Amino acid sequence: LAVPMSSLFDIGPAIQTGIAAMQRLQEVVDLPTEEDSARPRPDAQAFVSVGSGLALRDVRFRYTDREILTGVSFQVPRHGFTAVAGPSGAGKTTIFNLLARFYDPADGVIAFDGKDAHSDHTLEEWRTRIGLVEQSSPLMYGTLRDNISYAAPDADEERLHAVIEMTGLTDLVRRLPDGLDTMVGEHGSTLSGGEQQRVAIARSLVARPEILLLDEPTSHLDAVNEQLLTRTLRRISTEHTLLVIAHRFSTLRAADRIIVLADGKVAACGSYEEVRDHLPPVPADLGQGCA
Ligand code: ADP
Ligand code: MG
Repeated sequence: LAVPMSSLFDIGPAIQTGIAAMQRLQEVVDLPTEEDSARPRPDAQAFVSVGSGLALRDVRFRYTDREILTGVSFQVPRHGFTAVAGPSGAGKTTIFNLLARFYDPADGVIAFDGKDAHSDHTLEEWRTRIGLVEQSSPLMYGTLRDNISYAAPDADEERLHAVIEMTGLTDLVRRLPDGLDTMVGEHGSTLSGGEQQRVAIARSLVARPEILLLDEPTSHLDAVNEQLLTRTLRRISTEHTLLVIAHRFSTLRAADRIIVLADGKVAACGSYEEVRDHLPPVPADLGQGCA
């Protein structure tokens, strides 16, 4: 009896993950449809863009009665690595939810290259410009190729190899017995955490998003994998407008610019030196060490 009992215990977490995934799917199903969300916004004309890139102007948002974003404004140049930092609950993921158009801002404007993200683009067209890797982006049962080309099944071999190169997965593909056609197991269980993270990023890059949003990609990585990923981020930012929610010192350090969010507002922005006094304290287990 011990063997079947122990396999029963083993599937517990899988069921939990499945339930969480179903809830997430239901949330997406419940989101407004394209007809609702492509409506013109009365204040859209008031926005005059300065230069190219991504701009938020006085963006306000609430999920329920409490206002979560209380007037967020910042500009992100086209191409380059911008980090978003700030304490838990500050509204970082909420900003990504608005950028991905899971929700509309209650007020204010989000624009890219001078065009309003919510009124000048259909939802479908906007989503082709955005790549999002959420805090948890589990891999699926299948081959590495399935996992990478999932969002763009028509991607040719050349594109697949370009993103594999860009995300630093070339050595892994070479090492695997069947290369890209190796099965990665349930939730990518045969890959390390750092490799899974880079596969999730490769997947979001295949469709050539102009803007890539990564929500805390380095928070669960060890120092070596964090450094590898940080190098990957620098490479990606030469061709994409990259926004990364991060807490770790070395990720923040590698960014061109950091936007610090606190209480639903931008508390500071600039280089690491310029914003360091506004950064939340680093948790003890992630200590910066003694330089
Ligand atoms: P961060 O990513 O900076 O930790 P979030 O943007 O996830 O913060 O959350 C900001 C605030 O919004 C938190 O107080 C959180 O509890 C709340 N919040 C987040 N998502 C939802 C939601 N779907 N419904 C209601 N409140 C939410
Ligand atoms: Mg978050």
